[in-house]
Amino acid sequence: MSSAFADSSPLAAYGWDEDLENEFTSHRAAGLVPARVAAVDRGLCDAVTEDGPVRASVPRAASPGDPVPCTGDWAALRPGGPDGRPVVAALLPRRTAITRASAGRDSRGQVLAANVDTVAVAVSLAARPAPGRIERLVALAWESGAQPVLVLTKADQVADTAAAEADAAAAAPGVPVVACSAATGDGVEAVRAVLAGTVVLVGPSGAGKSTLGNALLGADSLVTGAVREADGKGRHTTVRRELLPLPGGGVLIDTPGLRGVGLVEASAGLERTFADVEELAAGCRFADCAHETEPGCAVLAAVEDGTLPQRRLDSYRRLLRENAWAASRTDARLRAEHENRWKTIKKEQRRMYRERGRDR
Ligand code: ZN
Repeated sequence: MSSAFADSSPLAAYGWDEDLENEFTSHRAAGLVPARVAAVDRGLCDAVTEDGPVRASVPRAASPGDPVPCTGDWAALRPGGPDGRPVVAALLPRRTAITRASAGRDSRGQVLAANVDTVAVAVSLAARPAPGRIERLVALAWESGAQPVLVLTKADQVADTAAAEADAAAAAPGVPVVACSAATGDGVEAVRAVLAGTVVLVGPSGAGKSTLGNALLGADSLVTGAVREADGKGRHTTVRRELLPLPGGGVLIDTPGLRGVGLVEASAGLERTFADVEELAAGCRFADCAHETEPGCAVLAAVEDGTLPQRRLDSYRRLLRENAWAASRTDARLRAEHENRWKTIKKEQRRMYRERGRDR
């Protein structure tokens, strides 16, 4: 398939590209059509196809371990199922996935959003940002395979934006930091410039995510309202997630589910979030140094001489403990799936960086 074909597809606004078109070849041959999943609720999903939005049915998983569609997935739909709706026949492999531990007795992670390229961590400057919170969200973003970006909102409410940026950057080495104000419009273009591909906004409540989302969309079109659906047992309310094309390219996924997000096996994400600590640790005398009381510990020496803030070491330890706990609850099957995903993600990231390099 030529790239011109993928670019001219109405799905291009939702992220469809030549690689996806190539992955889809056998599905096309089987008469299936591509779609991106916007929202899933009990047996049905809203998806966007080349011919516009559809409501498709999601068959029961053949085996319990099979992936269930989630927002952001690329699906292969078989037109005209038994009830007249298209049916989700297959999912393309996920390039990235944002997961959280499920609240119930099932310890398996729940995928909140798939194929996300950029995780924008929104933090309000109206209150002093909590670095631990930034570190946790940045680790989650790295772990998903997406590129984290730190967006400092409500910049009009601080006198010294540069100092606030420097503070926040210390909690997220290697992560682009942009301050903006949706109220004045300052910095919104700069935020747009660092967002690539499919974007999610995460952050604590009060960070101004909806306002920022609307500013990026250039319209009050961010849909977070509840959708009511009737069934035989009465009315249920589900929160709907949406895919919203951004002007100038890219897609915004609005995922209310990300609000209560926690860590699920974020070892790789933590390594990147605390790259400065990991780098120092390479200089410790013992390879298995726990940076507690060991002689020749380069990490403790850095805390001593003020290079590494004690707070950051404490946060690193706390998140490592949290992660070990999450890992202990994760079953072997999920772990294997996770490792496979990492391989795909790393391949995909290399491709993305190559393309970004070409664009510049
Ligand atoms: Zn050490």
